[in-house]
Amino acid sequence: MKQNLIAEQRVMEEVKKAIAEGIDIDPGRIKPESSLMKDLGAESLDFLDINYRLEQTFGIKMARRTVIDHIEELFGEESAIDSDGKLTGKAVDVLAMRYDGYGDKIHAGMDMDELPVLVTVSSLAEGVESLLDTLPEKCSCGAQEWKLEDETRIVCGACSEPASFTSGDELIEEWLKQVQEDKKIF
Ligand SMILES: [Zn+2]
Repeated sequence: MKQNLIAEQRVMEEVKKAIAEGIDIDPGRIKPESSLMKDLGAESLDFLDINYRLEQTFGIKMARRTVIDHIEELFGEESAIDSDGKLTGKAVDVLAMRYDGYGDKIHAGMDMDELPVLVTVSSLAEGVESLLDTLPEKCSCGAQEWKLEDETRIVCGACSEPASFTSGDELIEEWLKQVQEDKKIF
């Protein structure tokens, strides 16, 4: 369900903080539209560090694999990336649905290595929000009284257990299955 304990603004602030600490840069340089790799100089390993910080902050599990990885796993090899390492038209359709603003930046035949550059501060924050929005209606103890602890952690007001969110990988997989059911892309 859509959670309303942590405001979007707060998520954005925490994402900026995780990036600033993860890449060791001045937070003032970080804008919502900044590309982590192109504008802020992040490298592949920095993403792991940033994700780890966000997981600790919010008690969530960020996706370990990309949408592309999940497409190939669910719908077969070369369904997202052809044998030359280029993006397929079907993968483009799916990515454009998944990420606002990707539509005019991706096209069939582009090199898959160009994709990580598209990750922006906003898209990362949206990813965190989508995980927080998997907050179950009730805690496993049956109580329906979520509350905030340490400003960014949602816990049960009755038993104090942390909320259990869907993991990033599970969320992508569920979403892809739904897309496939609705649109029969693959
Ligand atoms: Zn509980």
